[in-house]
Amino acid sequence: MPIDKTPEKNAILFVWFNHYAGVVIKTPSKTLVIDPVDIRARSFPDADAVLITHEHYDHLDPRLIAEIQKATGCTIIADPASTQRLQHVIPPEKLQQIRPSEEIKVGEVSVKAEKCNHPATAPVTYIITSEDGVKVFHTADSLPYPELAAIGEKEKFDVVFCTVGIAPGSSPETGFEIARLTKPQVAVPYHTNSTGYQQEFAEILKKELPRTACLIPELNKIYQVSKRK
Ligand SMILES: [Zn+2]
Repeated sequence: MPIDKTPEKNAILFVWFNHYAGVVIKTPSKTLVIDPVDIRARSFPDADAVLITHEHYDHLDPRLIAEIQKATGCTIIADPASTQRLQHVIPPEKLQQIRPSEEIKVGEVSVKAEKCNHPATAPVTYIITSEDGVKVFHTADSLPYPELAAIGEKEKFDVVFCTVGIAPGSSPETGFEIARLTKPQVAVPYHTNSTGYQQEFAEILKKELPRTACLIPELNKIYQVSKRK
């Protein structure tokens, strides 16, 4: 499952690895792992950073994160509630708290937190900008919220991950609403164990937002997305 290739210039590779928000993003220089649960630590031998969006069990597994950190020496970036839960298992110099509108650099890759509309203590979403300028928006378990339109207009996302199930209130329709507000080049329906929900998302998207492509990911498969022209 580790991504054993490097993306082309102006592209990123990604893998979705559980039924929740677990995603690995590989840029030409860095590997970022988001919300790892239900997976082995050795799946990420080249992790440079682990990003955590909120403290719910399907996103935060302190023992697993400690194992990944120990094996790779990577940095852990987390929302305030998760940071608190991690401070006893991660060396302080390797643990960085992030809040909406703050930015942390991982080498030349930018990790910026934004608001997340989800009933957790202090959840965040992540805007990841590769060294080539490829823009990924990992919206965690967020439901749509009005500011997404301005964020999308400013960032011009290449990829947006949209929750279509499991999280409270989420559905193919709320996932589509995130895509409609952010208008990415590619929208990825995730956080579900229903391919039916992913198909439903794809159908709404095709009808309502034909300029955004839908990429329905299979678990543990590698996908490449290039920067929009
Ligand atoms: Zn979740």
